[in-house]
Amino acid sequence: MTHNIKVIDQLDLQDKRVFIRVDFNVPLADGRVADPTRIEAALLTIRHALDHGAKVILASHLGRPKGERNPDLSLEPVGIALADYLKVKVKLAPDCIGPEVERMVGAMKSGEVLLLENLRFHAGETKNDPDFARSLAKLADVYINDAFGTAHRAHASTEGMAHFVPERGAGFLLQREVDYLSRVLTNPERPLIAILGGAKVSDKIPVIQNLLHLVDALLVGGAMAYTFLRSKGQQTGRSMVEENQISLANELLSAAKDRGVSFLLPTDHVVADNAEEGSTATTVQGQIPNEKIGLDIGPDTIGAFEEEIGKARTIFWNGPMGLFEIKPFDKGTMAIAAALADSQALTVVGGGDSVAAVNRSGRAGDFSHISTGGGASLEFLEGKKLPGLAALE
Ligand code: ADP
Ligand code: MG
Repeated sequence: MTHNIKVIDQLDLQDKRVFIRVDFNVPLADGRVADPTRIEAALLTIRHALDHGAKVILASHLGRPKGERNPDLSLEPVGIALADYLKVKVKLAPDCIGPEVERMVGAMKSGEVLLLENLRFHAGETKNDPDFARSLAKLADVYINDAFGTAHRAHASTEGMAHFVPERGAGFLLQREVDYLSRVLTNPERPLIAILGGAKVSDKIPVIQNLLHLVDALLVGGAMAYTFLRSKGQQTGRSMVEENQISLANELLSAAKDRGVSFLLPTDHVVADNAEEGSTATTVQGQIPNEKIGLDIGPDTIGAFEEEIGKARTIFWNGPMGLFEIKPFDKGTMAIAAALADSQALTVVGGGDSVAAVNRSGRAGDFSHISTGGGASLEFLEGKKLPGLAALE
């Protein structure tokens, strides 16, 4: 792993209190864990710690309790599910800091697991309050961060406490995220292409700016493409356009030209009168008629994108190519998902909706890496230093 960060398997854990910041922010239904994916993802790191004689203390946030105790957002159901996987008893602490929790930690033996209660029951967590961070740090000899999804946030459990613990490092999940995203940013196998889409250009400006220095080609679809097309003087009908981003979009197109980066925009569009299930979709070339809304990339564009994907050795994808939640406007997104899945290139996808689209395509297993952190993966590719990573150095 890069950045002078140690990974958990490089640290001595024997008989130590090993505090692991995990991402157990799982969906709940009727007081049970509705989707255990995130719990399963954390097992590798937890089992490693247990196998190496650690006293394992687990901490996570769940939902948005906004600094107040909320029994509906207790981690208790997570503890029950986790015990099933580990075949080890998982004790739930009544809180995440304080004398009672300290007493419980003090009584722990190697190979035991204590799950702390929801970190965000305390306002100090998201405020990165130093006193709260110190109270968490008191519980630990070794601090491990394995929660990539919150690594772009400087919270007490993701950033603050790391400074007050004698030893620190990354868990295996965090390591994997950083390794794959770094393979896009640093010495990628070329050609390197980025496929960007989604709803708003404004969300993606910083990542486009950074990627323009790195990629051989940029493929832009989704609603965000219409702002670029407008900046070239094309008609976009009633498609989503961010008027206040048009001139910046134009600057990005010229910057790409100056650098010799090919910037592919859709040449044909799937349009409709309404963005609704059952509305009649037609395909238009070039200009979009006044009354129509562009809701997906057309077949020619899919073909052109597939050709670039076929040549690439490293591919990063963020943002659906159309309104993929509604049929038939999912075709472009599904075609791109399939093209990436079929590709021999290193394929990395990030973004909540993009990952949902990949899962829907049924080809998730054919991607090199699917990032668990939407915001965090984008900020990483913007070239920003993530606070949660910096604190581990
Ligand atoms: P991610 O979560 O992967 O980063 P975004 O949140 O940026 O992606 O964008 C995803 C959203 O963009 C989806 O809800 C999708 O329906 C929407 N979208 C993409 N293309 C269009 C379009 N042409 N018109 C309206 N919405 C679109
Ligand atoms: Mg999204």
